[in-house]
Amino acid sequence: MDIKSMTIEELSEVLRGLGQPAYRAKQLYSWLHVRLVSDYGEMSNLPKDLREALTAEYPLTVLTKVVRLDSALDETKKYLFRLPDGNVIESVRMEYHHGVSVCISSQVGCRMGCSFCASTIGGLVRNLTPSEMLEQVYAITRDSGARVDNIVVMGSGEPLDNYENLLRFIKMVTDENGLHISQRNITVSTCGLAPMLRKLAEEHLAITPAVSLHAPNDELRKQLMPVAKAYSLRELMAAAWYYAETTGRRMTFEYSLIEGVNDTPQLAKELAGLLKGRPAHVNLIPVNPVTERNYRRSLVKNVLQFQKMLENEGIHVTIRRELGSDIDAACGQLRRHYEESKQELKV
Ligand code: SAH
Repeated sequence: MDIKSMTIEELSEVLRGLGQPAYRAKQLYSWLHVRLVSDYGEMSNLPKDLREALTAEYPLTVLTKVVRLDSALDETKKYLFRLPDGNVIESVRMEYHHGVSVCISSQVGCRMGCSFCASTIGGLVRNLTPSEMLEQVYAITRDSGARVDNIVVMGSGEPLDNYENLLRFIKMVTDENGLHISQRNITVSTCGLAPMLRKLAEEHLAITPAVSLHAPNDELRKQLMPVAKAYSLRELMAAAWYYAETTGRRMTFEYSLIEGVNDTPQLAKELAGLLKGRPAHVNLIPVNPVTERNYRRSLVKNVLQFQKMLENEGIHVTIRRELGSDIDAACGQLRRHYEESKQELKV
């Protein structure tokens, strides 16, 4: 395993094997996960021979910035990073009144096949390691010089399809010896892998769970999201309420509004029926048009009407504020456009 994916306990083992005293683990963990250095050479309180041994045996996973797109409209910055194996992923840094949020990818590509999402067009390439998830946060922290307050696992990939690495990432980024981000400030969004959501409930984490719903009935949901063929809404909602009951956390449901597809008053009513009286919060997202798809975003008046109808049933609703709409902010679009331009350069 790469050294940046190791917990402090695992690091202790490695260092013990190298004949080091116990306190070295904390020192090394701090260099890696608090001071965020990208080279053993900078670890000034470690003996030189240890630094050399580590350099030889444990190469550090570091992401390289390929491009950064800065929104001209707000403080949003979108990053394209290169991984050690040459694959590229994207992450986004956003500033809200409650602090800095970073949206990270959990996989290279995705195999879930949602029809409105650019991340899934080329399928799944591979899972990200815990260190590659951490490094997105670290590289952005290094680049901006400011602490990250919130993490949303809502970039490319399905986090519950990379379960063990996701859990390790959460454990490490919340560790008091690391960045020590509160579990409450971490949101994990799933397209609806119901059994995995139940499994996650059993971990008793205080993270914020989000489910991408996008349709209030199986027929429409199956057209938008292939995962709906594997797990019915009935199974998914049962898993969501089980999650809320087990952890005491309120469920967030994401609903991307596509003009004429899932934004009618009838569907708002159906959605209200699913959520009424439950510990639920709805986040309405005007769909980001993806070049490869024909979807258009709902008209503002329809978004507002959809919201109103849910609120009339006592359901808590927010409309996602659009940040960075000028910089390819839709999931996976930057990576896709980058890969395409590389292809063009080859021919
Ligand atoms: N796989 C996870 C997390 C990544 S996607 C999930 O499905 O939840 C993060 C969110 O962005 C999901 O709600 C997803 O459905 C939504 N999304 C993807 N493409 C979008 C687009 N073009 N416009 C609006 N939302 C989109």
